[in-house]
Amino acid sequence: MTAPPIRSIVIVGGGSAGWMTAAALSSLVDEKDVTITLVESDAIGTVGVGEATIPDIIAFNQMLGVDEAEFMRATDATFKLGIEFVDWGRRGDRYIHPFGQHGVDMQGIDFHQYWLRLRADGGTDPIEAYSLSAVTARANRFALPDPNPRSVFSQLRYAYHFDATLYARFLRRYAEARGVKRIEGVVGEVRRTESGDGIAAVVMASGVQVEGEFFFDCTGFRALLTAETLGIGFVDWSAWLPCDSALAMPSAHVGPLAPYTRSTAQPAGWQWRIPTQRRTGNGHIYSQSFMADDEAESILHQGVEGEPLANPRLIRFKAGHRQQFWRGNCIAIGLSAGFLEPLESTSLYLIQEGISRFISLFPNGDFPDILRTEYNRHMRKEFEQVRDFIVLHYAATERDDTPFWRYCRNMEIPDTLRHKIELFRETGRVFRYDDELFARPSWVAVMLGQRITPERCDPIVAALPAGDVAHSLRSMASAMADAARRMPTHQDFLARYCAAMTG
Ligand code: FAD
Repeated sequence: MTAPPIRSIVIVGGGSAGWMTAAALSSLVDEKDVTITLVESDAIGTVGVGEATIPDIIAFNQMLGVDEAEFMRATDATFKLGIEFVDWGRRGDRYIHPFGQHGVDMQGIDFHQYWLRLRADGGTDPIEAYSLSAVTARANRFALPDPNPRSVFSQLRYAYHFDATLYARFLRRYAEARGVKRIEGVVGEVRRTESGDGIAAVVMASGVQVEGEFFFDCTGFRALLTAETLGIGFVDWSAWLPCDSALAMPSAHVGPLAPYTRSTAQPAGWQWRIPTQRRTGNGHIYSQSFMADDEAESILHQGVEGEPLANPRLIRFKAGHRQQFWRGNCIAIGLSAGFLEPLESTSLYLIQEGISRFISLFPNGDFPDILRTEYNRHMRKEFEQVRDFIVLHYAATERDDTPFWRYCRNMEIPDTLRHKIELFRETGRVFRYDDELFARPSWVAVMLGQRITPERCDPIVAALPAGDVAHSLRSMASAMADAARRMPTHQDFLARYCAAMTG
């Protein structure tokens, strides 16, 4: 006989992970059938960083049915068309990893093969000259993509920069309006089920006991339910991703509002610049094994363009993930599940993926093992694929000017990543495996941007008349440049579409 449905869900933690989970579940289940309770502590607070996203967040907001302009006003959001990487391959290098594709594939052959051919013939344009998102980003402009696939404007892909604390607040209003009950206070004790492999209740410091049939551990790096209570271990990836510290600090805007994130490589890590509507988020990510905190702080200050609006805040972390994401009746979502540094803005995506996968496997009250196994397999794969893409940025460097960069360029890398790099270097080919998050254009942008140069291009493209290839690419690049010129500035677009609420 099928077990009865779940009737009560408890989410412990009210950061982005907790409120994204609460909002998504409350949009799907009827509060009369399932009670959802979220427990959070104002005294403990949230990690309070997390400003950059990738385009998948649009689908999450659409699933909730939220209005884009309203969400952007409430979260101080700007548009993001990609990430500019500065000084990563060599000092002085700059490239954009844009959202969306480069150019147009022709005769079933990837666009970048034509670009490789043009380059072999003496072409000098970087591949980003063929990405509408990159060209628009460089021009500090923005327009919403055209739904008509024949229009060049349809090639634009975007995400957002926003204030993650305001996003959690926005989702809290959404979830509470759909019946989610919030309990404020510190969880002092977590009670296991009789069998010991699940959670029966959390007990607040006030003595109030909150019972549930299913629990989400959204308690951040502490992982109170999954690590501390159920004893689930951690898969440590710090040998591949040695950065373990961040100093974050907001500053006032300077210059035009950029529709892209900037990541500048530093002697033992990198620094982000993320513009939201009312401030610029800055942070220096570095490895303690290679740099002391006070030196990291002085580098952060040197790299900040505007007046600092607060003192730097230090956050320690470790790259990796929980050995199991779902055990018994409890799933870790958010920082409790794992963390890969914010270089490609993937944390909120991994939260979203954890929630969607849970929803697609929504169990009855007996939680069959096969569902847990499937969930854990999927999330491990997601983390590993994102890891490879992030490690690529460190491994594909020619920098040898500091011990940190010498370590990165010489470290052993995962076999899966080594295969991708060798395939590209020897043949110019890139494939997307198993529905991975980062598709071919992303790999091409970063590999070319960091000087991994294919030894040859596709033989069919190599046999085409040089003039035909040059003509096609010239007309694509000028269509992109022309389209970008016709868009309003990012700042003007925001002012009209979603100027942030004041106060
Ligand atoms: P937290 O925000 O830490 O929330 C934990 C919650 O648990 C809080 O509400 C807390 O009160 C509660 N809690 C904990 N213990 C208890 C207890 N005992 N009793 C009651 N409540 C408790 N992500 C991106 O997508 N883009 C980015 O650009 C980005 N940048 C980042 C930069 C840095 C330096 C770091 C560290 C992370 C970044 N992230 C980024 C990740 C992002 O911040 C997090 O993934 C996201 O905010 C989710 O955090 P969380 O909700 O899991 O944890």
